[in-house]
Amino acid sequence: METFYTDLLCIGAGLAGERVAVEAATRGFETICLSIVPPRRSHSSAAQGGMQASLGNCCKGEGDCPDVHFSDTVKGSDWGCDQEVARMFAETAPIAVREMAHWGIPWNRVVAGKSTYFKGGKEFEKIESKEKEGLITARDFGGTAKWRTCYTSDGTGHTLLFTMDNQVVKLGVSVHDRVEATALIHDGETCIGAVARCLKTGKLRVYLAKATLIATGGYGRLYRETTNAVICDGSGSILALNTGIVPIGNPEAVQFHPTGIVPTNILVTEGCRGDGGTLKDVNGERFMHIYEPEKQELASRDVVSRWMTHHIRKGLGVKSAYGDHLWLDIRHLGAKHIKTKLREVEEICNEFLGVDPITQMIPVRPCQHYSMGGVRTNKDGAAYGLKGLFSAGEAACWDMHGLNRLGGNSLAETIVAGRIVGQKVSDFLEGYEVDFKTAIIGDAVKKEQERIDAVIRGRDGRENVYEVRAAMQDALMEGVGIFRNAEDLRKAVEKLQTIAERSEKAGLRSSGIGANPELALALRIKGMVRLALCVAYAAEQRTESRGCHSREDFKERNDRDWLKRTLATWKEGDTLPTLNYEPNSKVWEIPPGERGYGSCQIICCEDPDVMGCGPASPATN
Ligand SMILES: Cc1cc2nc3c(=O)[nH]c(=O)nc-3n(C[C@H](O)[C@H](O)[C@H](O)COP(=O)(O)OP(=O)(O)OC[C@H]3O[C@@H](n4cnc5c(N)ncnc54)[C@H](O)[C@@H]3O)c2cc1C
Repeated sequence: METFYTDLLCIGAGLAGERVAVEAATRGFETICLSIVPPRRSHSSAAQGGMQASLGNCCKGEGDCPDVHFSDTVKGSDWGCDQEVARMFAETAPIAVREMAHWGIPWNRVVAGKSTYFKGGKEFEKIESKEKEGLITARDFGGTAKWRTCYTSDGTGHTLLFTMDNQVVKLGVSVHDRVEATALIHDGETCIGAVARCLKTGKLRVYLAKATLIATGGYGRLYRETTNAVICDGSGSILALNTGIVPIGNPEAVQFHPTGIVPTNILVTEGCRGDGGTLKDVNGERFMHIYEPEKQELASRDVVSRWMTHHIRKGLGVKSAYGDHLWLDIRHLGAKHIKTKLREVEEICNEFLGVDPITQMIPVRPCQHYSMGGVRTNKDGAAYGLKGLFSAGEAACWDMHGLNRLGGNSLAETIVAGRIVGQKVSDFLEGYEVDFKTAIIGDAVKKEQERIDAVIRGRDGRENVYEVRAAMQDALMEGVGIFRNAEDLRKAVEKLQTIAERSEKAGLRSSGIGANPELALALRIKGMVRLALCVAYAAEQRTESRGCHSREDFKERNDRDWLKRTLATWKEGDTLPTLNYEPNSKVWEIPPGERGYGSCQIICCEDPDVMGCGPASPATN
């Protein structure tokens, strides 16, 4: 058995995993990153629109500062976030953007003089001053009071990830790609690494580490219609869930993005609406201003997705062979803007739709996009329940997003959290020694080997793993989508419980030897269905509407009873997760109030400790 020893094991080499690795390596700790794909192919690379940080350089960002960014983030989260974390995040984001510039990111810059822009379909002129010329500029994004989203055209994730990976290479961090962690090694108190499978040879390996980080990205692939890459199946959350100890925070907090293209669900960036693109219905009419007179197309994602679904339900969607959709119109932005600032959008539309966005409208509809839920950590990124285990990025519930993430806040989170958690992991490693107990390692490997052998031999059955996955994806799409209600959620939970039984009997059609994607999925499917059950069951239990979690039968945001974060764990032998709750935030800088967009029915919080601080309704303009 190949065994590797290291100080820090990063499971995941996207932006978050690599940023933590960079910090630890800079502090002199030996670090290994694991990744299913070569790091530069991680999902972070697909992010187009940008990264939020309150630089206040461009004229539309004037007066911006971490306070305003913090306030936007808290409102965006619908008061579901940990405000201490959101504060740390907003304060650090400008440093992170400048640091990335120092490492080589070709951020778009302020160009002095007049230029034409659009808002709410109307043209306006903006004039950038000479003094700001050459500073990092920003674009408009949903749910923000100021233009704060820094970008490199619409390839921001790409440039960030490649630049981060250059740092990883420079610092000599070992990257083992095409290696999948399948189980954490722990004794119920301390985590000492992971068992992993080489996806080229199929052989198991042992990684022993003083600290282990889960940075495996989101769990969008639990849903059928998602913008997420095929590797975003929540394997990090599954690693945590399988310990029976480490909870998943707010698994029900699943974001739908308004503009996935139909039918492939490839995302066209929020930058399209930020730059002035409009949403139109079957009659070619704009509609967002009817529902959201103030923010219009630039309300937060949960709000825009809901109004789009509502408008389609009113019969104003465009019929297609793939279901009803709406239009995104960016034609008025003009060829020059599209060809420079929205290049990937143009390419995606031409290549995948045969639509030229310079002259034609783009068919869009909301689809799953982001997982706010994930491995629950404290503000240092330390996972609950196991010493030596950390998490960062989309895989984590750190929790600065609460029940809805703002566009551009996720790229920023990966790098900001990567930086902060990287420092905390390094502090933890300073002088820390751990006993790599042979018996625990042996047990973990034996269990994994037996699991693999059982699937290959079909010991427990030969359920078709692709059919099981499709059934799970359908159950979540049908019952746990944008609008939710008790009846649909109950049915989804029941269906998923039956699917969970099938997942225990997953077998193979292929031989199972060597590089075998069917085996990889068969090994993961039980965990995926359990995670799906966490999503559905937690959604069923949360009897209120907050952020992306919209209950048709409980329309109010219930601050009296639900200023709480769900903590889901799974006890072996159970058929449902165990749900516990904790307060959203220990610190209340901004007490719950109105978001300023979205319909707002609130059952007020009666706790004087929560309501007695800060301004009642945060001012952001
Ligand atoms: C299409 C799209 C566009 C987006 N655009 C924006 C945007 O403009 N702005 C913004 O702020 N956010 C955007 N987001 C969100 C943002 O890109 C992601 O949240 C973020 O990049 C996630 O980074 P990460 O490092 O947490 O995970 P990822 O980049 O997903 O990396 C996960 C890593 O974990 C590895 N991995 C997974 N499982 C295992 C395992 N079991 N063992 C070993 N390795 C494993 C993978 O190989 C990969 O290296 C977008 C998301 C999508 C889907």
